[in-house]
Amino acid sequence: MPSSESPALVPSPSGERDVRVDGIGVSTGASVGRVLRLDQRDIAAGLPPDVNADDPAVEIERLRQAFVRARNQVLALKQRVATELGRGHAYFFEAHLLMLDDPELVADVERVIRTRRVKAEWAVKAVLDRMLVVYESVKDDYLRERGSDIEDVARRVIRALAGRPGTSGLARLQHDVVVLANTLPPSTAAELDLSHVLGFATGDGGFTSHTAIIARSLGIPAVVGLSEVALRVTSGEPMVVDGTDGCVIVRPSKPVIRRYLRQHGLQRRLEEMDEPPERARTLDGHLCMLRANVEITAELDLVRRHGARGIGLYRTEFLFLNSQPSLPTEDEQTRVFEQVAEAGGKHGATIRTFDLGGDKLPIGRVESEQNPALGQRALRLALSTPDVFRSHVRAILRASARGNVRILLPMVTHVDELRAARAVIDSCMEELDTEGIPFDPRLAVGVMIEVPSAVLVADQLAAECDFFSIGTNDLIQYLLAVDRSNQRVAPMFAPLHPAVLRALEHVVRASEAAGIPSIVCGEMASNPVHATVLVGLGYDRFSMTPTAIRLIKRVISSLDRDLAASLAGEALRCRTAAEVDGLLARELPLRFPGFFKV
Ligand code: PEP
Ligand code: MG
Repeated sequence: MPSSESPALVPSPSGERDVRVDGIGVSTGASVGRVLRLDQRDIAAGLPPDVNADDPAVEIERLRQAFVRARNQVLALKQRVATELGRGHAYFFEAHLLMLDDPELVADVERVIRTRRVKAEWAVKAVLDRMLVVYESVKDDYLRERGSDIEDVARRVIRALAGRPGTSGLARLQHDVVVLANTLPPSTAAELDLSHVLGFATGDGGFTSHTAIIARSLGIPAVVGLSEVALRVTSGEPMVVDGTDGCVIVRPSKPVIRRYLRQHGLQRRLEEMDEPPERARTLDGHLCMLRANVEITAELDLVRRHGARGIGLYRTEFLFLNSQPSLPTEDEQTRVFEQVAEAGGKHGATIRTFDLGGDKLPIGRVESEQNPALGQRALRLALSTPDVFRSHVRAILRASARGNVRILLPMVTHVDELRAARAVIDSCMEELDTEGIPFDPRLAVGVMIEVPSAVLVADQLAAECDFFSIGTNDLIQYLLAVDRSNQRVAPMFAPLHPAVLRALEHVVRASEAAGIPSIVCGEMASNPVHATVLVGLGYDRFSMTPTAIRLIKRVISSLDRDLAASLAGEALRCRTAAEVDGLLARELPLRFPGFFKV
């Protein structure tokens, strides 16, 4: 973890203080530090003023050498990222290498040099601009994001043509910084000396952007989707990045800086403790269970390091993302799931079947949908691509021979979908049995409760599955009709909305009545205030990003469940999220001073 307490953090004399700018928190925790602005300089800034080439043959030779230099830089970066962050993080360089190795691309640029008699830099820009136009017209978010790879490569080749180094000294940061950028391509994030990065604040990006993933796995607070007000802050000014609340504070005053330093200091002290507390027990002696959410295998060693009791949610989407453009084979998936099963240890691992489609990664060539979040996503997509789904399920079953594996179905809306998925699981079991391949025949099958219809038929689902996993991220999105990744409606994404609280209460009562466990795996579980409300509603199982586990263990061990239940009861009677907020701000420090008075 980076160190935080820079003694010279003094607000700048000009401008309004404590300006809160809301964005989307994509990595929890808060920090405060001086801003390092990384402006992705416009490609045009690297172009020579003179467009015309004196001698096209000379330009073509310069171009070829620049491609070689750029390629070597990318290879070195890929190597460094693989060593420092794990191979899972190095995959995005493959796309850059593919472009730099593409003879068609080089030939295209050479053609422009010859026919238009322009300098190599201008020819690179012309060709890549043409490619960008195509990508920008694509509706699919994932494919459109690949356009940023093209810009990244173009920028690198143009730098190489100017004889400038590919890296910009970012790997040798001397001080701790908060990195602020409108766009932060993964290759730039990877160039940073992450041991000096206290936080990320960006205009673009989403929960699944690679920078967000890196931030989460290293426990660096990050907020994306910020507006101009935040992006105008200049290098050297102090800024708070609060990834838990999803905001930054521009020009923080001294009291605000002190409050955040204290909070961050507490978080760091918790993280530096060698042995995290084994258990999370409330003051009245009730044991809660805290598991880890994991996205990529590079995060697996965090499970034990942060004292998680197994893996509560393994998001398989990233495995598919990493193997783009093809799909991972059954054997490849089995190998990864076996590692996940082993990392889950005796407490086991819950592997969620792919939650692809919609606004996430598509399978194959699909028509773009007008309402992707309401389209062919998750289990719907799985059931409509039976071959892909079967090999996925077979891989999970095969891994269940290696450890305690549970299977989790995303975005279930009614029992028919659960039955259809169970039929596939049963048929894959029969097939493996016939082939003599071992698996756990008693493997538990769980349902994500993340759409309103699943809440309303929770009793029916509970009768036919082994456990519930509550995906509060989607549940809030669908209950409140607020797109979870649209920054324009981000202030309306209200976890404490009375409708959300009522839904959560309804689900926990349904699971209790059916005698099955319910685990909360959405982001609410890793927020101290929300976790307190969840305990009050009756939840005692949570799964969260591993770096939040120590903090939530501390919260839980400061709670009395009767007191938390009466507070949750009062929250349920409120009429607005703001009323609930006010109630909690007033009551939490009074009722649970062990944690909330820090
Ligand atoms: C959720 O929706 O809360 C959840 C845990 O799943 P994801 O964030 O992957 O959609
Ligand atoms: Mg979800």
